[in-house]
Amino acid sequence: MKEKNKRNLETEIIHVGYHPDPIAHSVSPPIYQTSTFAFESAEQGAALFAGKEKGFIYTRLGNPTILALEEALAFLEKGSAALATATGMAAVSTIYLTFLEKDSHMIGTSALYGPSRNIIETEFARFGVSSDFIDTSDLNRIQKLIRKNTRLLFIESPANPTMAITDIKACAELAKANNLILVVDNTFASPVLQNPLELGAKIVIHSLTKFINGHSDVVGGVIISSTPELHQRLQKVLRMHGGTMDPHQAWLVLRGLRTLNLRIEKAQGNAEKLASWLESHPKVAWVNYPGLESHPQYDLMKKQMKGPGSMISFGLKGGYEAGLKFINNVKLCTLAVSLGGIETLIQHPASMTHASVPKKEKDEAGITDDLIRLSVGCEAYEDLMADLEQALSLC
Ligand SMILES: *Cc1c(COP(=O)(O)O)cnc(C)c1O
Repeated sequence: MKEKNKRNLETEIIHVGYHPDPIAHSVSPPIYQTSTFAFESAEQGAALFAGKEKGFIYTRLGNPTILALEEALAFLEKGSAALATATGMAAVSTIYLTFLEKDSHMIGTSALYGPSRNIIETEFARFGVSSDFIDTSDLNRIQKLIRKNTRLLFIESPANPTMAITDIKACAELAKANNLILVVDNTFASPVLQNPLELGAKIVIHSLTKFINGHSDVVGGVIISSTPELHQRLQKVLRMHGGTMDPHQAWLVLRGLRTLNLRIEKAQGNAEKLASWLESHPKVAWVNYPGLESHPQYDLMKKQMKGPGSMISFGLKGGYEAGLKFINNVKLCTLAVSLGGIETLIQHPASMTHASVPKKEKDEAGITDDLIRLSVGCEAYEDLMADLEQALSLC
């Protein structure tokens, strides 16, 4: 392990989690497409179940292909261990099931991924869980809302789709002083650009569907814990409620992960140029991108992230109508939800994902009628700019 730690991230990302298998020496990891594993004897089966011997029993409880992905992700996020889950939401709900109880309370970022918030307000509320979703870049507000029964502080930074940045280190100190567990949804940054566990968070989650897999062809999630104790509590709940990953899914995500660094570099380079270009465009009212000096938390971004990433949101001077017209006229950018793939995706939350969200909630989360969200991909910059330019000229 010592020698490993000296290597660069771009090297590790290609090798971590797998060494050519001892049987066939395949360079690509084998897909252990099996639901169950044979015991050598009744005694060995008993030892495996008792945890006295290491090995595999049944795929819901563990599988070598899934383990390879988990080891890679735990390493990249500098955690103790990782749990791969069926989807990003299975990661979120496993955390809620593990740490929330009757009459407990949680605090979350108001712009938290929609279902991460909705499941608390509609489903966990049935079990007496209460919550406050606020702008977590305002630390005083968090402090004021902490109660005796608060268990979790759940933040997303950069937040979706406003790109607001929360001070992870300051939140970690607040959580520690008040005995809360700080969870960070690190999907937008990826482990290449931000490592919340190093900043004091206890748990990190990702929707692997996005940057880590990166090819818009699989869904998945992961929970990375800072300590073995947290990992074991989460693992117990995940194994019972069954939101575990499938081996083929794990193999696809591991393949996507190998190029994460290259994809982020290319997409981020495109995003930096596009954000500056958009900011000076006469039809554009505003641009939110943590890599622009005009971003209100530009300095904080530089402090806690290695780069601003490739998610941009911006508004058109023509408002809702112009937004609708704009996204209906792009040709190269694909009109779709999701993000973090090699292809550029574009969406207009007011007419698409957030069409049914009450206005008050949209205002609180910073989702204005003119907001366009762009997940910048790895195409040539000139082609992306030309596409946005022709669509803007029609607005
Ligand atoms: C997509 C997403 C999720 C949920 O992940 P799924 O894989 O769709 O279940 C959670 N958090 C963020 C920030 C996301 O973008």
